[in-house]
This record gives sequence, structure tokens and C-alpha cells, in this order.
Amino acid sequence: MGIQIDNYRRILEELGTSVTLVAVSKTKPVSDIRALYDAGQRDFGENYVQELLEKAPQLPADIRWHFIGHLQTNKVKLILPVVQLIHGVDSLKLLKEINKQAAKTGKPVDCLLQVHIAQEETKFGLDETELREVLKTVRTEGMDHVRICGLMGMASFSTDTSLLVKEFRQLRQLFDSCKELAPAGNHFQQLSMGMSSDYRLAIEEGSTMLRIGSLLFGEREQK
Ligand SMILES: *Cc1c(COP(=O)(O)O)cnc(C)c1O
Repeated sequence: MGIQIDNYRRILEELGTSVTLVAVSKTKPVSDIRALYDAGQRDFGENYVQELLEKAPQLPADIRWHFIGHLQTNKVKLILPVVQLIHGVDSLKLLKEINKQAAKTGKPVDCLLQVHIAQEETKFGLDETELREVLKTVRTEGMDHVRICGLMGMASFSTDTSLLVKEFRQLRQLFDSCKELAPAGNHFQQLSMGMSSDYRLAIEEGSTMLRIGSLLFGEREQK
């Protein structure tokens, strides 16, 4: 099917300059990523460690890779050399492991904390209490090798606009109220929310980063 270049151009126009588009390329071939790269895209998102590690070396080095999937602690050190931003940090244990591995490389790692906003229990993420706990621990323990750059969330799989707005709004409010809890350094700036089906609502509710796959690359085969 190939890339959807008209969608790409239209979305870029809708975004303006204050929102970052992360092109989610999971399950898609390197040739499709290359085509979107040639059209100007530099931020790409992958969900699976093995897939990311296979694709990244075959593509230009100035691509900024976002890890947006569920990350297991034993895989952290594999992706650190490749990844620019880890979106799905959903436990203190994982954050500590990232901090530990990053200490060895000497380069701080940018992370987003994933918050559970959807109705589905199957989705990952911290609840509000856990989120505040994590932020507090980062401050008191001084984790110098991770930078908490903001929050990430996935809304419910639903076409109910009012439900989606409610969930995005809840995440946005949490983002605002957590700013003062975030560690010093002013890195807490990013709110990663919005996918192919709900990105317009997410922008209206204050998203700074969209993760869009199927609108750019076409529908995926079930994995
Ligand atoms: C797959 C995925 C996306 C992109 O989904 P589309 O509906 O194809 O835009 C965004 N975020 C996460 C976390 C994903 O796993």
C-alpha cells in the first residue's frame, strides 16, 4: 500500500509548529520509513525492541527514534544506544533501571511517564497516586541520568467523542498539576497523546506530541 503522503502533508499543516508528529512505523518495512523520511519526517515511533534494533541501523542516523511500546526492564540497555525518547515508562522499577543503565553511558535519557486514562484494564500506565509517588521519588532520590520530559497516555478505544475528550482533559490537568512536582531543570514540557483516530481532539486538549501510524503508513496487519 505504501505511505499516505497526502495525509502526511495535511496533518503537518494542521499541527503547525508547536506539536511534534511521531510517525508510528511498527510492523512497516524500512522502505516505507525511508519514503516518509525522504518527505521530511524525522521522528519515528516503534513498539517492539527487536524490530527497532533491526530497522534503525538500516536507516539514516539523524532519525529520532521514539520507543512507544511497553518496555521490559531487561530490554532497557538494548535500546538506550538507539532511542531519543521513551514514552511508556509505567513503573518506578523501570525508571530506576533506565537511570542505572544510563549512568553507564553517561548520557541522560529522556522519558515520559505513562498514565492510565482509558477504560480498558489491558492498557498500561500509572494512576494518579502512583504518578505522584514516582515524581516524588525522582526528586528525593535525585535520579540524575533520567530526564522526566512529561506524560504520555492512550485514550479508550472508542468513537465516543465526549469520553475521549474527558480522558484527554484529565491527562492534561494531571500534566499541569504535576509540573511543580517535576524535578528541576524545566524538562517537563511534553504531553504525548493522540493517535490516528483521535488526534484532532488531542490537539484541542493540549497535546504537544502525536503518535500517528495508520493514517501515515496505511492499516497494519494484526500482529
Ligand atoms: C500503534 C500505536 C500508535 C499509533 O496508532 P494508529 O492508530 O495507527 O495511529 C500510537 N501509540 C501507541 C502507543 C501505539 O502502540
